[in-house]
Parts: sequence; structure tokens; C-alpha cells
Amino acid sequence: MSNFLKKRYKQLEAYVPGEQPKGMKYIKLNTNESPYPPSEATVQAVSSEAALKLNLYPDPSCIDLKKVIADRYCLSHENVFVSNGSDDILNFAFMAFGEKAVFPDITYGFYEVFCQLHGIEYEKIPLDENLNIVKNDYMKDNAMIAIANPNAPTGLALKKSDIEEILRANPNHVVLIDEAYIDFGGESAVDLIGKYPNLLVVQTFSKSRSLAGARIGFAFANEELIKDLEKIKYSTNPYSINKMSLNAGIAAVQSDLYYRACCGEIIKTREFCIDKLRKLGFFVTDSKANFLFVKSDAISGEMLYEKLRKKGILVRHFNGERIKEYNRITIGTPEEMNAFLTAVKEILN
Ligand SMILES: *Cc1c(COP(=O)(O)O)cnc(C)c1O
Repeated sequence: MSNFLKKRYKQLEAYVPGEQPKGMKYIKLNTNESPYPPSEATVQAVSSEAALKLNLYPDPSCIDLKKVIADRYCLSHENVFVSNGSDDILNFAFMAFGEKAVFPDITYGFYEVFCQLHGIEYEKIPLDENLNIVKNDYMKDNAMIAIANPNAPTGLALKKSDIEEILRANPNHVVLIDEAYIDFGGESAVDLIGKYPNLLVVQTFSKSRSLAGARIGFAFANEELIKDLEKIKYSTNPYSINKMSLNAGIAAVQSDLYYRACCGEIIKTREFCIDKLRKLGFFVTDSKANFLFVKSDAISGEMLYEKLRKKGILVRHFNGERIKEYNRITIGTPEEMNAFLTAVKEILN
């Protein structure tokens, strides 16, 4: 740290992303990327012809991308916001709406980082002993609420009716539903947008659309909330989505059938793995996401992580007190998951 850093950032603890290993080839099950490549049309959209236009700025309004997304979700483009990954949108949302914020004690680590970054007072509400979000803990209407649904890293989903109750109980605060994993089996709140002016639904191309590297996030809300987010975006970086990614995003929405099929495969593989791991004595949550959250009485979370790593398989281990016996395992291809299951069996023996 230099002597020049402002006082308010000295205590800030940045988010720690999962490793992106170089060199040794790992089976990479640690950052919830899709194991499947983007569709052919998506790849075509970022071919060298598109690169020839990189001398020009991208469209800051992102209107073409907004329109295809709006069509796909049966909304107006005025209800759609897009930016550089959903992390960007979460950042803007905390900046714009977080006088005070509440979120679960075990959830996406970035919510706390954004609160610290922007000096937002926040409260972490404990999950129950089965790692579920207790909806009655979110009925106070005293703060912006951020809920990942399905939650990460537990994979557990809230019912849409529970979300609707939370929305109704908090008319004076934004309720942000982070649906990064919604395409793997949860119930989306998108169709509540017209009914609740305090609802902000955030999604991403990173997980279910095989575009983590393109950095495209999108969000749905009432027009006025969208305008507030635009104000923040235009006050930071109006060109936050680059030209190549805009093209890729449009093509990806148009390749919906392909990505739905990929999600279907991932769901099938997930259910297969849940069954196998439970038979091996693991406790496995009922994940509705593209990852598993597992622990075993036979081996500590950290030990399993280390031993898998030595066998060339990377998973994600968190040190948090309540979850340190668990590992989060991204669903890969069936071949990758068979290699993972074989490695787990060897380790347990
Ligand atoms: C991966 C993830 C994100 C970030 O997605 P990007 O669009 O790649 O920035 C947001 N929220 C949750 C819960 C995630 O797991």
C-alpha cells in the first residue's frame, strides 16, 4: 500500500476471484464457468471482420443488445440495463440504492466488498442451520436487500412466492435479486418487474451463456430504476461494454436454443453427480445452480481441496467459519465429472 491511498480505502478488502491457473493443466471446476464453448454464431460475431471496426467507440446506449434481451424476456428495452459483467451492475446498484444494505451471511462475497467500497452500512443475516434464506428475516423495510437466487455458494433457491412477499414488505427499498444461476433451475422473478417498482433482477452471460470472458451483465427493472443505473454508468464509463462483446451478446441471445441445451446437459450432469456423491456419504445441498456444495465427515473441506488439487482438479474452498468444511464444485462436462468422481473415490480410500 502506498502512502497516497485515501484513508477510506485503507481497510478495504478486495474480492478474491477463484484462480485462473497458467501452466499446469487442471480440470477447472472452481469458478462456475460453462464447460461448453459459445455457439458458432456467437464466435462468428466476434470474428476478424468485427475487429476491423474497433477504431470506433461502441454504442453507449447498447440499444441493439437491449432490444434482443427485451424480446427474449417479453419486456420493453426501457426495462433493460446492460453493463460490463453483472459485477459492474451490482456495483452500480449498491452505489445508487444502498443507503444501508442487508444480505445473507453466506452469499456472494462481492456484496460486502461493494458496501465497504462505498461506505454503506450493512448487516449480514444468518442463513438457517440448513443453509436456507429465511424470508421472514427480510421484512423490515429498513435497507436495500441483496439476495442471490439461487444463492451462492449453497446453490439453494428461494421460491418466487417468497421473493414476492419480501418485495411487498419492503416498498421503500430496492430488492436486488441476483439471478446469475437462474437458468439452471430456479424460479425467476423477471415477470414481477411490472408489479414491483422496487425490484431489480440482475443476470449475466457468464454462466449459462458461456461468455464469462466477454463480460456482459444485464438487469431488469422498472424504467425509473433503469434510468438511475444509467446515470451511474454514464458518470463512470459510458462505453462499459466493448464492441466485440456487444456483438457476442446479441448473437448469444439469438442462439437461445443452443444455450438452453447446454444448461440442460449441465442440469443432467449435476443430478448424476449429486446422486453419486450422496452414495459416497457426502452431504450435498439441493443445488439449483451449475455447481455443487458438498462436505463429508470422512475428510475436511480443506484436505479434500488440497488432495484434488494434487490430482489436477481445481475446486473452490472458502475459509468462512460456517462453510469451511465444504467445497464448491462447478459442474463440468460428463467426462470431467467422471474424472472428479474417480479422484474423490481414490482420496476417500
Ligand atoms: C458469477 C457471479 C456473478 C458475476 O458475474 P459476471 O457477470 O461475470 O460479473 C454475480 N453474482 C453471482 C452470485 C455470481 O456467482
